[in-house]
Amino acid sequence: MALILELPRIVQTAAEAESPASQVQYIVDAIQREMPVDVCSLYLRSDNGDMVLVASHGLSMGAAGGTRLPAGRGLVGRVAQTRHPLNLVEPASHPDYYHFPGIGEDRFHSFSAVPLVRAGESIGVLAVQCLQARLLSFEEQAFLVTLGAQLALVVANWADWQAADNAAPRIYKGLRGAPGIGIGRACLCEEQDLMAVIDTPGQDPEGDIAQWRELLRQVRADVAEEQRLLGQDLSAEVAAIFDAYLMLLADPALSSGVERAIEAGRDLPSALRHVIQHYSDLFMAMDDPYLRARHEDIRHLGNRLYSAWRGRDGAGATRAPGEGPLVLVGSAVSVSDIAARPREQLAGIVCLQGSSMSHTAILASALGVPAVVGIGSGHAIEDNAAVIVDANLGQVLVNPAPAVSQEYRRLAREERVLRGRLAHLRDQPAVTTDGERVTLLVNSGLLADLSPGIEAGAEGIGLYRTEIPFMVREGFPSEEEQLDIYRHVIGAYQGKPVHMRVLDIGGDKPLPYFPIREDNPALGWRGIRFCLDNSPLLMTQLRALLRADPGAGQLRILLPMVSATDELQRFHEILADALAQLRAEGVAVERPPVGVMIEVPAAISMLPRWRGQLDFVSVGSNDLSQYLLAVDRNNPRVAAAYDHLNPAVVLEIERIAACARDLALPLSVCGEMSSDPAAAILLLGMGVRSLSVSAAQLPHIKWLIRHIDCASAAALLEQARAMPTAAALRAHLHDYLEQLDFPGVSRADH
Ligand code: PEP
Ligand code: MG
Repeated sequence: MALILELPRIVQTAAEAESPASQVQYIVDAIQREMPVDVCSLYLRSDNGDMVLVASHGLSMGAAGGTRLPAGRGLVGRVAQTRHPLNLVEPASHPDYYHFPGIGEDRFHSFSAVPLVRAGESIGVLAVQCLQARLLSFEEQAFLVTLGAQLALVVANWADWQAADNAAPRIYKGLRGAPGIGIGRACLCEEQDLMAVIDTPGQDPEGDIAQWRELLRQVRADVAEEQRLLGQDLSAEVAAIFDAYLMLLADPALSSGVERAIEAGRDLPSALRHVIQHYSDLFMAMDDPYLRARHEDIRHLGNRLYSAWRGRDGAGATRAPGEGPLVLVGSAVSVSDIAARPREQLAGIVCLQGSSMSHTAILASALGVPAVVGIGSGHAIEDNAAVIVDANLGQVLVNPAPAVSQEYRRLAREERVLRGRLAHLRDQPAVTTDGERVTLLVNSGLLADLSPGIEAGAEGIGLYRTEIPFMVREGFPSEEEQLDIYRHVIGAYQGKPVHMRVLDIGGDKPLPYFPIREDNPALGWRGIRFCLDNSPLLMTQLRALLRADPGAGQLRILLPMVSATDELQRFHEILADALAQLRAEGVAVERPPVGVMIEVPAAISMLPRWRGQLDFVSVGSNDLSQYLLAVDRNNPRVAAAYDHLNPAVVLEIERIAACARDLALPLSVCGEMSSDPAAAILLLGMGVRSLSVSAAQLPHIKWLIRHIDCASAAALLEQARAMPTAAALRAHLHDYLEQLDFPGVSRADH
């Protein structure tokens, strides 16, 4: 159909859009689709003349800060300035071409743009790009000009709308990175973007080189200091994440590369950008995902060096140290962004990207800072905006309404008070009001997070995720290194049981230095399957575990993702082998109790057949929910459907509890379900008497156990069986918690 005939329909549909922003996006999408072209973008002129990318189909919009072309720069700047359209092929060879890194423009071989003009003034530019080198036809040019005129009308009051939009309350759904509720002001961690630096000729190469050497020295010292500080607060293990940064900073390729770029005529920031861009591109192009991911470290260091340089010029925009509480916001808040602030200043962390197993999430958990990750790169949170990080529900509230803020403040206050009030419960047993004793264990995975569990009065570790120490290293730890870690963990919980889960990698827990490429990793080479196929790794781990507790008084071995009988048999053979080897070497070791995680649905039906091969079982409700519901536990798009209170999950866990009872197998639940008070009621109702919870939630769950009787829990379970949805069930259980006066629950959770 002739393009021009499409115009009325596009204009009409755009007019019906609910907001100016969606009107603009609709037009941009329609142009891209109808012409068709590969990219259609709208730039608007800001007060200082910069051209800001406000909508695009095909270009990356940039993360929190957005993409901004300096006034008068590039082809877009030229169209705005001259108020004339451009229609050309091979734009990169045009004298006005300006390469804007990070938005992926380099691939396009044609560029056409029309100015948006209002009252004679340029207010923006509408641009299209194609991968092919092709000029727009007359008809296409007319189409673009007409829609450009339409857009000029829509965006006339853009700044006002933006301001109104920015102040509007918003809720972004993401993933829980570290539990808790944090309330503070947004502090953007990405304001110094080295990649936005424009090439500028240097005036004083010698001075720049001297300044560069000093800069490098200063940043190296800063990173080493952060590492030292973290080493004090946390374990050497977390601080080791910084070793990678120090190694990069010490790399002669970086120092001499920048010097050479300065000697070649660039000023210091553009020389730095040039070198960092070069290395970042090199890493980006690598096949190995671990090495590819290093490009983020390189960019982070580049920004870090650039920020230090800006700070020296007095232009750095860092927040005063005493100011807080802060919510760090960034596309990927880095480990050093966190380390750079005193813990007491940190109220929360929000990452636009990232998974709940990222280094950021691990560090946030260890520090007890609530974190939500993966809210989506399309969401911008303005610097200094009021933010509530509700990591318990995996959501971020920006500019919340006063009533909502008030409610959350009450909740956070109550959480604090509750913790204070619960301090005296530390050494009290978790006993229901009708005298049923419940064992409360803790989940752990870093040396750094051992003490919160001990302080909370945990009766042992119900799940130690051994893959986490593997994930924060550069390669597989040796038997001796593992021995050190395991001894430390077992030693910290003297006399108490420690359930060490053997390496559970693959799926959502990739090992950076052992990439596994699969179409469907959640159903792939992971957990016990991986361990059995890589038996030397398993053997090394088992030897280290057995040596760490030779009398097996505390050690329990937990197997992840078991789904078949032969997996258990093969494991027992390797365990027997490890015991025999060690005994032959003169180490007196005992066979520890062995259990499986029930987290693959097949394990539920197979459980009765595993009698005699198991000493205990532990329900991994996180994966069990994922596999029962066919909902990826890390996919924000389907996060609403991922709920351990889904009636199907509850019914299956009841089945497991009944089966374990019949088999007289000790049963524990170590997934997040145990840390959720509403779900914990149901587990008590099912007869579960051992829960492994997060250290932060342990006091809450103990409080709950000490205020509930098993008959009520069983009655609630009975009622739950009739509930049609997870939401209805949660609301019902929350009503009960409110009646109990459980201080950690609120209407805001519904
Ligand atoms: C689970 O799946 O419930 C579990 C505890 O293991 P992870 O979260 O480490 O997969
Ligand atoms: Mg699991």
